[in-house]
Amino acid sequence: MTRYECRTGRICMDMTTFWMLSKMGWLATKLYNTAMWNSRKVWEDSGKIPTGYDLQKVVLASPHHAMLAAHTYQHPAHQVGNAFKSWFKLRKNDTTTHPPGFRKKEKPSSFLFTRYGFKIIDQNTLSLTLTKPFKEQINYPHKRLTIKLRWSTPFPKEGVIQQIEVIPRKGYFEVHAKIMLPQPRWKTKGIVVAVDLGQKVPIAAVGEDQRLDLYKGGGIQSLKRYANKTKKRVAKEVMARTKGGKKWSKPLNRMSKKFNNQFKHSLHSLTTHFTRECVKRKTKEVVIGDLKNIKKEKDGTGKRWKKKGKAQQNWQQFPLRTLVAQLGYKLARHGIRLTEQDERGTSKGRCSICGCKDRKHIHRLHRGMFHCDNCKNTQHADINGAKNQLARYLHQETKVSAGSSGCLAQPLVHRWDNHNWSTIVAT
Ligand SMILES: [Zn+2]
Repeated sequence: MTRYECRTGRICMDMTTFWMLSKMGWLATKLYNTAMWNSRKVWEDSGKIPTGYDLQKVVLASPHHAMLAAHTYQHPAHQVGNAFKSWFKLRKNDTTTHPPGFRKKEKPSSFLFTRYGFKIIDQNTLSLTLTKPFKEQINYPHKRLTIKLRWSTPFPKEGVIQQIEVIPRKGYFEVHAKIMLPQPRWKTKGIVVAVDLGQKVPIAAVGEDQRLDLYKGGGIQSLKRYANKTKKRVAKEVMARTKGGKKWSKPLNRMSKKFNNQFKHSLHSLTTHFTRECVKRKTKEVVIGDLKNIKKEKDGTGKRWKKKGKAQQNWQQFPLRTLVAQLGYKLARHGIRLTEQDERGTSKGRCSICGCKDRKHIHRLHRGMFHCDNCKNTQHADINGAKNQLARYLHQETKVSAGSSGCLAQPLVHRWDNHNWSTIVAT
């Protein structure tokens, strides 16, 4: 499996570069609108959404396409196709939604360069291919346009840029790059750490070194609850001030963005913190339960959007999939493998200390504690789950640890304090 990472950066500007990139952006907008105009016509005439092939033809028929590189001019067609597809899906449930609209004529769009559209000079320098008509129209003497990039986060060593998207911002251009990474040298020596994923405790980890870790999600959840409350309050005020006409305002939008960024930051801190700890402990592999069983309703549809029970109103799902994705690539940077394994029956059904599976003897107590009558031990339910996970992975499920006391080391508890993940030893 090929590994990719994304980086964003800024293009260092001079007048010519700025002007030429703006021109490309305008052409992209033109092509987008052409494809959009055609799609809407097809829709009105036949009631069908146009196929990707049709849109490609429309774009090719436009005189503007010759100005842009091969894959660059196809991108707007894809975007229109996708916009129509997602609208078509929405329409099945809600017939009042409007079809996708045109872009503003004077506003440049983002545009894409695939591997054929640019050459890499070094990590910070690319040269973009220019087409003949483009050069002729603006009288540009060189074959290629060289751009200098400034990455916002360090560029990965040995990474190769596969594709870039140039995005116009106010007064500058941003680059989103898709970077291919070489296969990591996977570690062969070290310990295995098992992780139990959960809503209240996103990560409960047990290592072969007997260390226990609990990452509590309460801080993040309360941040989310606070954000929702505040957003609702401000939205109400905006509604009242404009006599119900407006549901949106600039400050409200800015606030949502801020909350969103805070949340993203906390999640990234969590995965970074965990990864760092794994590296310190000389981990070679991290085992998690597979995500198929998580975050799905009984009917298998995923989240239930429509239900608005009071208890559910403020309840936010913890984005475990995102968490696992982040863990995957962050651990891989250090050569630590992330393995998924079937976790059915690991968290509730078994006592990790004596291996008891009798439902009469094991109970879940208040606050996520797990008690076993057989060996008279109480421990955190998620730690119990992680221990079972580890035992299953190491094929030690049948092995029962000697002595009924087992290993009851105190877990390290990590909490989000709005800035950092601070660690306390539970008492
Ligand atoms: Zn037990």
